[in-house]
Amino acid sequence: AVAALALTGCSSERGGTEGASTEAAGFAADAAIGVALPDKTSENWVLAGGLFEDGLAEAGFEADVQYAPASNTVAEQQNQISAMITNGAKVIVIGAKDGKQLGTQLQQAADAGVKVIAYDRLIENTENVDYYVAFDNFEVGRLQGQALLDGLAERSGHEAPWNIELFSGSPDDANSAVFFNGAMEVLQPKIDDGTLVVASGQTEIGQTATQGWEAENAQSRMDSLLTSTYGSQEVDGVLSPNDTLGRAIITSIKQAGKDISKITVTGQDSEVESVKSIMAGEQYSTINKDTAILVAETITMIQALQQGEEPEVNDTEQYDNGVKVVPAYLIPPVIVTKENAADAYASNPNLLEIVNASK
Ligand code: BGC
Repeated sequence: AVAALALTGCSSERGGTEGASTEAAGFAADAAIGVALPDKTSENWVLAGGLFEDGLAEAGFEADVQYAPASNTVAEQQNQISAMITNGAKVIVIGAKDGKQLGTQLQQAADAGVKVIAYDRLIENTENVDYYVAFDNFEVGRLQGQALLDGLAERSGHEAPWNIELFSGSPDDANSAVFFNGAMEVLQPKIDDGTLVVASGQTEIGQTATQGWEAENAQSRMDSLLTSTYGSQEVDGVLSPNDTLGRAIITSIKQAGKDISKITVTGQDSEVESVKSIMAGEQYSTINKDTAILVAETITMIQALQQGEEPEVNDTEQYDNGVKVVPAYLIPPVIVTKENAADAYASNPNLLEIVNASK
């Protein structure tokens, strides 16, 4: 955090005097801005589309927001980005479906002088990504790992060792490894000292992956784990990387006739159904990554670019995409359990209503 603060200081020094500035001169205040979002695998993506439409229009831009459809997603997203460049977008914001497969399109963007902002998910193996704006995803993982430990102690009704299973997100999403590695930073020492037992033995990220972030894939893996490993012993907790998968895991556990109130399942995104589940004592935790804040920060970046200024970043170390470290603006995520839900959602009327209704 100290390094990040120091770097924030550096980043606010704009290069050179006005006359000698080598910055791009900006672009028209009503320019077209492209927003290429992935398929709607979780509520945050659905929310982001509407917030970008409204926020960009309010800021005076012409918004072109596209989602990649659930099938043939990578090719469709590539085509959408190419079309945005052809249609004269000045900035393209990308929530990548597969962050490793956009090299050709981003070269095309760079050649046309279009700035590219990676949104929520890093874009890898290309130098043609200018900025990254996201919640601090490694911290998301750490918070999930810590929540799992806290929940085990609170709910399991017994002392360690605790049996757990691990799930991660889709392998084509750069965030998946970041979440998993953040969680394992907390969990691995506890596995090593015997506090936690991954009874299936499946601890490699490849074994824990959930293709496409699809709920049915997580549910069927959990079904298999319960059959193969938990006939004669209990599962005390499950690391789930997000809410959609967490609810699928909970469904599987309940269908197996187990008491979910004793089992800790983590999550992320503060989806409506998961907030309800937390308040009902089923899902243990989620993460508050307010999509409205992330979209607003992205639009602030676009406005700086429009003025010909260097957007503010607060991290120039963490997000190495394989070719370069992408300057990032990272927002701190917040862990949410039943205990702090009212505080955590104080500024979110929809979620606050759910919390209050459950009291
Ligand atoms: C996002 C998560 C989301 C997941 C699945 C990730 O890249 O950061 O918030 O749950 O994608 O949509």
